[in-house]
Amino acid sequence: MARLNSIRIMDAVDPHVITPAVYRGRLAPSPTGLLHLGHASTFLIAEARAHEAGGPLVVRNEDLDTQRSRPEFYTAMLEDLAWLGIRWQEGPDVGGPYAPYNQSERQSTYRAALQKLIAAGHVYPCRCSRKDLARMTQAPHDDEPIYPGTCRSSGSGTADIVDRLAATELNWRFRVPDGEAIEFHDGHFGPQRFVAGKDFGDFLVWRKDGVPAYQLAVAVDDAAMEITEVVRGADLLKSTARQILICRALGLPEPLWFHCPLVRDANGERLAKRHDALSLRALRASGMKPEDVLRLAAANFDKPGSQRGPDL
Ligand SMILES: [Zn+2]
Repeated sequence: MARLNSIRIMDAVDPHVITPAVYRGRLAPSPTGLLHLGHASTFLIAEARAHEAGGPLVVRNEDLDTQRSRPEFYTAMLEDLAWLGIRWQEGPDVGGPYAPYNQSERQSTYRAALQKLIAAGHVYPCRCSRKDLARMTQAPHDDEPIYPGTCRSSGSGTADIVDRLAATELNWRFRVPDGEAIEFHDGHFGPQRFVAGKDFGDFLVWRKDGVPAYQLAVAVDDAAMEITEVVRGADLLKSTARQILICRALGLPEPLWFHCPLVRDANGERLAKRHDALSLRALRASGMKPEDVLRLAAANFDKPGSQRGPDL
């Protein structure tokens, strides 16, 4: 199909990876802003891979951030996906066998996972404030700062704490196996390796406002929805190592991974939802067709040494 040919990375097929019998792919957008060029390219690649494998594509609405999620962004998200020509077989709008597809309706699943992690001693309550964390973690990191393990030792009294307090009213951190290399094969970027305790530290799986952290919700949902391949942006490569640890701790199957190159703007910065000029809405209003959007994205993939962005 034409769409496949226009994205060169589709050619990257790894003979060592066993393709599951039934492919299930997913798109997991958050309704916290308008979708932009970067989302479009990742989602088109995800759809092409599901189409190629002959498996269904699932849309999961990642609306756990109640402060920033908006119904109008949810509506815009589905409209923009449809405009791009993406078709999905399961999702919040069409339903499906793994419903609900809104994360905000899946709290009981996340709570069960948290209880399992607590019972097995994989997590401990963290009472550090934002201020404490800011003071302890000096150097800026490309993502979550490395937690110095201040509350780790409190883990021994976990059972008492859970008796006294509702577990969901605490921050919980995953105890990473310090020094252990987490390795996985990425369908696009090849072999990946991150060392626990060095590349990333004990990370949050639950926040005291009663909401699971991204890492837990995603790992649990991908397993619950029997997703066989996760296609998403390269900014989440390191998160994959964290999610693999969660999968192992919960005894969940690990999906295959395929991370897509990021798209940069004219200043060489990663696209974010604040880039309104590159939102699909704006591109569409400027007269662009879906195929132009794809061409523009592919021409501006993040390449080592390249800071060039879209010429608009
Ligand atoms: Zn702490």
